[in-house]
Amino acid sequence: MIFEPFGIKKRKTEREESRMNFPVTKTTSPKAKPDPNNLKFGTVFTDHMFIMEYAEGKGWHDGRIVPYGPLQMDPATVVFHYAQEMFEGLKAYKTKEGKVQLFRPEMNARRTNKTNERLCIPTIDEDVFVDAVCQIVKTDADWIPEKEGTSLYIRPFIIADEPFIGVRPSRHYKFMIILSPVGPYYAGGLAPTKIFVEDKYVRAALGGTGEAKCGGNYAAGLKAQEEAAARGYEQILWLDGMERKYVEEIGTSNAFFIIDDEVITPPLEGTILPGITRASVIEILKDKGHKVSEKKLTIDEVTAAHKKGTFREMFAAGTAAVISPVGELCYKEEKMVINGGGIGPVARYAYDTIYGIQTGTVKDKKGWITEVK
Ligand SMILES: *Cc1c(COP(=O)(O)O)cnc(C)c1O
Repeated sequence: MIFEPFGIKKRKTEREESRMNFPVTKTTSPKAKPDPNNLKFGTVFTDHMFIMEYAEGKGWHDGRIVPYGPLQMDPATVVFHYAQEMFEGLKAYKTKEGKVQLFRPEMNARRTNKTNERLCIPTIDEDVFVDAVCQIVKTDADWIPEKEGTSLYIRPFIIADEPFIGVRPSRHYKFMIILSPVGPYYAGGLAPTKIFVEDKYVRAALGGTGEAKCGGNYAAGLKAQEEAAARGYEQILWLDGMERKYVEEIGTSNAFFIIDDEVITPPLEGTILPGITRASVIEILKDKGHKVSEKKLTIDEVTAAHKKGTFREMFAAGTAAVISPVGELCYKEEKMVINGGGIGPVARYAYDTIYGIQTGTVKDKKGWITEVK
């Protein structure tokens, strides 16, 4: 089934209706906050975490906030053996006025259930998901860094935690949310990246789990990532699994190409992760009057456009880096420098608009912001 990111249930932007009533056990030994000038991505975690259990016959239950810490698990636990696991990623930002904002969290809730369905994980009430995110962020709100380019990364995830090594869906799960204050995803911030076009390994095939956000996809992609890094590239551009002909995704984010005056991004037909940043970029660029097409694009069309001088821009879109311009693309030893290796105007506009809405400097006319109160 094709994932449909649009037309989902619209939540109120104010969350006064929120239940926010999970029991909280506060830590007795709060940690020192990291230096906001030197935040690496995903290395430091806050004082608390959210946990909820699922048991067959009982459903999801016992949601609670507890001090951050390790889990004790049986070595036979399903997730260790067969990777029945999913995750999400979103961010909380603090505005200049001190408000705490989330960007479209209801879409992460929706996508969680799409992923869950694919991996035989029981679905979660989408309001409970957003409430849990709001309450854990509120609990650790003093961990949200305020410096330009920083935020609190939110990582909801579900693991199959029944101790059982036969192959069938687990009968017990944990849904957890952990938080990490982060700096820019790439050390260079909005600086253009170098991308290697991968034509040996594949990320996803039709009918597989490409459109699900699950750890297994990432484990399978590490090898390609390592080999590209050894050649001096930050990320890879994945091609389709069948013919290695069509462009699909950039590492762990969605890909955008600007050829002539058309903004092109691959369509959601089963192998591509339906990014929330992707959906937002499409919408704001259409609003701006750009021609935006969700259509198949071959790597040969990209190289031909480069030769003709009509390949204007390329960028990656995803929560971690928001927008990441591509300055160089390497395909079969051919190196294409894009837009003089600089940041193009469309990437700049998309970044300024989305990051501006997220951080409260651009008015949220779309109702994309959920304030955590
Ligand atoms: C999470 C993810 C994206 C980006 O999705 P966002 O919702 O924009 O963060 C793109 N591709 C892959 C493979 C991902 O896991």
